[in-house]
Amino acid sequence: ILRESVYLNALILDVITLNSEKINNKKINVKFNAEEDFYINSDNYLVVTILRNIISNAVKYTNEGGEVSVSLSKRTGKIICKISDNGIGIAKEDLETVFNPFFRSNSSLHPEIKGTGLGLSIVKRFTELLHITFQMESKINTGTIVILEFNEEMK
Ligand code: ATP
Ligand code: MG
Repeated sequence: ILRESVYLNALILDVITLNSEKINNKKINVKFNAEEDFYINSDNYLVVTILRNIISNAVKYTNEGGEVSVSLSKRTGKIICKISDNGIGIAKEDLETVFNPFFRSNSSLHPEIKGTGLGLSIVKRFTELLHITFQMESKINTGTIVILEFNEEMK
């Protein structure tokens, strides 16, 4: 695990760009809002992997014309990153199980949405490894919100 200076604002914009084909095809409205420039000391590649999985899920599980919103803000010395979508959501009984490798919650209802079911298990492992607080809330047919909490960079 590396400990380098990671510029979160640019990293998020890069991850959004990585998903631009799907975003454009589905006419998803993506919003990004940051209170200021935020830096953390972490492993850039692992943080990219975490955000790639969360943001690609938000785009993937949101219907055409939907909205995905990413924000960066500060609260009591912590950096809060929220990724929310108004997509298909996750049933309450699956909110724990979705972190198990290969488990796919909406796979029976939405067979046209493909995946391996590994993304969130990787997110869980990597956030634990990097001491990033990770929370997920969701409501079926309403949407999902993921909240990440980072420690600010030591200057
Ligand atoms: P992949 O390994 O390609 O990421 P996946 O997207 O199916 O495949 P995960 O990212 O681990 O796997 O997600 C697990 C399951 O959780 C998904 O199959 C889906 O049912 C549900 N899920 C994850 N994110 C969302 C979201 N933003 N909205 C609705 N359901 C979601
Ligand atoms: Mg996924």
